Amino acid sequence: MPGGVSSPVRSFRSVGGEPFFVVSGKGARVRDADGRSYIDYVMSYGPHLFGHQPPFLNRALARAIRRGTSYGAPTEAEVRLAERVTRLVPSVEMVRFVNSGTEATMSAARLARAATGRKRIVKTEGGYHGHADLFLVSAGSGVATLAIADSPGVPAEVVEQTVVVPYNDARALEDAFRRLAGEIAAVILEPLAANMGVVAPAAGYLEAARDLTRRHGALLIFDEVISGFRLAAGGAQEISGVLPDLTTLGKILGGGLPVGAYGGPRALMESVAPSGPVYQAGTLSGNPLAMAAGIAMLQEIERHPPYEDLERKAAHLERLLAERIDALGLAGKVCLARAGSLLTLFFAPGPMTDFASVKRSDTKRYAAFFHAMRERGVFLPPAQFEAWFVSTAHTEADLRRTAKAAGESLEAAFRDLH
Ligand SMILES: *Cc1c(COP(=O)(O)O)cnc(C)c1O
Repeated sequence: MPGGVSSPVRSFRSVGGEPFFVVSGKGARVRDADGRSYIDYVMSYGPHLFGHQPPFLNRALARAIRRGTSYGAPTEAEVRLAERVTRLVPSVEMVRFVNSGTEATMSAARLARAATGRKRIVKTEGGYHGHADLFLVSAGSGVATLAIADSPGVPAEVVEQTVVVPYNDARALEDAFRRLAGEIAAVILEPLAANMGVVAPAAGYLEAARDLTRRHGALLIFDEVISGFRLAAGGAQEISGVLPDLTTLGKILGGGLPVGAYGGPRALMESVAPSGPVYQAGTLSGNPLAMAAGIAMLQEIERHPPYEDLERKAAHLERLLAERIDALGLAGKVCLARAGSLLTLFFAPGPMTDFASVKRSDTKRYAAFFHAMRERGVFLPPAQFEAWFVSTAHTEADLRRTAKAAGESLEAAFRDLH
């Protein structure tokens, strides 16, 4: 396996060293092959809103597996999950299930191009939308860390159709529309950026994107693969009140199983095959186990909304970390960015508003911090430009232990590296 991993961000390449192999996860913890236990803030990069193996999820999966794993024919579970998604996500009337976030965004872009008869897709700098060719320009997440502006193997002719604008810059978006009048099929953005570390949308930014796309006959795609079901049951669009034309989902939607989805108004989604001509398919799409996990997650979210608990816990963690930072006199050297249960400790002064500002971070110092945290039993993303995920399974004791470890690790990172 290249790099020993199935996805590059899992290697510790950007922080140095070798990844540990996980043998199990339970609640807020993962255990590695050497028997060490970690408080986990990676949480599979988002799916585990309730921590690892919440009992309701295990029960749903155990029930589902007794009936079989895949048929190549529709099942009731898809209908039940589609009902929940369309009920919860404000702009989604009709939904297509796929197997990953990458498939969701790639398919949404195809649909947008088909619906508008235009080619160009506008994305934001540092925005990550999976690894399809057209999005591999100025992408965040693992791509930001590895500093691949553009991957070999992606034809120039493909990325020529992608236009990159800075995040939170409505003026730049307006300029793009002026420059490329009548050519832009869609603007895709994370309504809460979380793949360059956490960067919240500026006041009015999402509204401006909505207004510009509407005025210029382009579609607005909200990539809610991370933000969907995370900040609210209806995602970032519920909180902002700004409704996109198309929404992409993943991560929490599959509760740790491979699921993605894209959806929008019926009139648009009816263009997807077999209702319409826009082709998109998948042997395992709507997989019964994955659907069972999704139903269980959304049912839990509806019956016991976790958002107050998550906000309280993440705010508490933020406060505890801020106290340590202040006590060490590091307030001008690091900054905390948080939105609900997503949090990033940047090794640069804030505020963080776009890719240019987060790129000022001292990634060497983050690497030292990461390793010091790992030695103290806290598993953080092995890269500066990622979010930490707080789950309902994290206890007050976990948060206090994390803050204590962070104080010591910050001290070590700033002592050992000058
Ligand atoms: C994770 C992510 C993706 C890609 O999803 P995969 O399931 O990894 O293919 C796309 N968009 C956003 C915003 C993501 O966070």
